[in-house]
Amino acid sequence: MVDFNLTEEQIMIRDMAREFCEVEVTPHAEEWDRNGTYPRDAITKAHELGLLNVTIPEEYGGAGMSSVDEMIICEELSRGDPGFGTAAYHTMLASLPILTGGTEEQKAEYLGRVTAGKLAAYCVTEPDAGSDVQALKTEAVRDGEEYVINGSKAWISGAGYADWFFVLAYTDKTAGYGGLSGFIVDADSPGIELGKKEDNMGQRCSDTRGVNFTDVRVPQSNLIGGIENGGWMNAMKAFDHSRPAVAAAAVGNARGAMEEAWGYAMERKTFGKPISKHQSISFMLADMATKIEAARLLTLSAASALDSGERATLKAAHAKRFAADMCMEVTTDAVQVLGGYGYSEEYPVARRMRGAKIYQIFEGTSQIQRMIISREMIRGK
Ligand SMILES: Cc1cc2nc3c(=O)[nH]c(=O)nc-3n(C[C@H](O)[C@H](O)[C@H](O)COP(=O)(O)OP(=O)(O)OC[C@H]3O[C@@H](n4cnc5c(N)ncnc54)[C@H](O)[C@@H]3O)c2cc1C
Repeated sequence: MVDFNLTEEQIMIRDMAREFCEVEVTPHAEEWDRNGTYPRDAITKAHELGLLNVTIPEEYGGAGMSSVDEMIICEELSRGDPGFGTAAYHTMLASLPILTGGTEEQKAEYLGRVTAGKLAAYCVTEPDAGSDVQALKTEAVRDGEEYVINGSKAWISGAGYADWFFVLAYTDKTAGYGGLSGFIVDADSPGIELGKKEDNMGQRCSDTRGVNFTDVRVPQSNLIGGIENGGWMNAMKAFDHSRPAVAAAAVGNARGAMEEAWGYAMERKTFGKPISKHQSISFMLADMATKIEAARLLTLSAASALDSGERATLKAAHAKRFAADMCMEVTTDAVQVLGGYGYSEEYPVARRMRGAKIYQIFEGTSQIQRMIISREMIRGK
């Protein structure tokens, strides 16, 4: 039997996240987006309530929650506001390679900092290397008991507020993916320079910027897992966990847009009746609800696989690809339901539509997800 019901505890967590957003997130979201304000205070409050980085085990000060629990929270935070949802997640993304491949000392120190309220950022992408990670140029050269890192990272979420960075760099440029290593770099290390905040289309409260590394010295003990040239698989494994979280965020953002559209459709009258009574509108709303439900089920299926200890690469890609594309469709339709008002920034559906686009781009574009899905299907044959 497959149980689709949430436990009492999960309902409690969901309601707590929802109530938190109703007070601390949604009322501020329009202003944060307009001014590009990073919601640092709200992130601190969410941390204090136990809503962030929830899968970090108890021995490192975390809550040790399941991935399914995490999805429930991610959906609610992005239903509160999509930019807030992303700002609330970049620290977990950076923590994942440590969680899966770090030494005990690295986990105790850096996951410990996270569970104490510090933030972190995941630095893989570079100006000339996004989907094609092998094209990275950043290099870490061994010098005695240290590594010296040189390179430029681009589009790093939360970089301006991070206490430490996860950095993927070449330790052997001749070995392709097999020459990449993961490092933990303290953000106050000499030689680190932050770029300006990017002027993004959507999720404008989330901080995105470049990070330059010039002769940045890192102790050997910050090589993740103590393993040189083992960084690629570990960095990619993080995506099996984070892609379902992006999918959950897309579900939350789409749900927020659908709820807005539904409420509007019940009130707005044309030709003598609420527009919800016009079949073309009610069918659009019905399709939104079905798509959201389908994306949520794919997301929970991936999370459930993670909780069972299964390799979740395929399920994570299914969930992320479907939920991201679904969110773009649903938020676009929500704008359509509101007509001219939907096109105005006075109503939140415009912000939700702008905020939906990034789910199809970061943590592997929808095209890359399809490549993973087809590769995994062929592999499974
Ligand atoms: C707001 C924001 C936040 C981000 N946060 C982070 C972060 O925290 N950390 C981090 O490391 N990165 C981050 N990124 C980077 C993000 O992961 C990359 O933008 C993404 O992986 C795509 O890379 P790219 O932009 O270089 O596009 P490209 O790789 O140049 O792709 C351009 C287009 O070509 C398509 N394409 C590329 N290769 C193929 C192929 N083989 N087959 C078919 N189509 C292909 C892509 O799907 C895309 O449509 C962020 C980006 C943004 C915009």
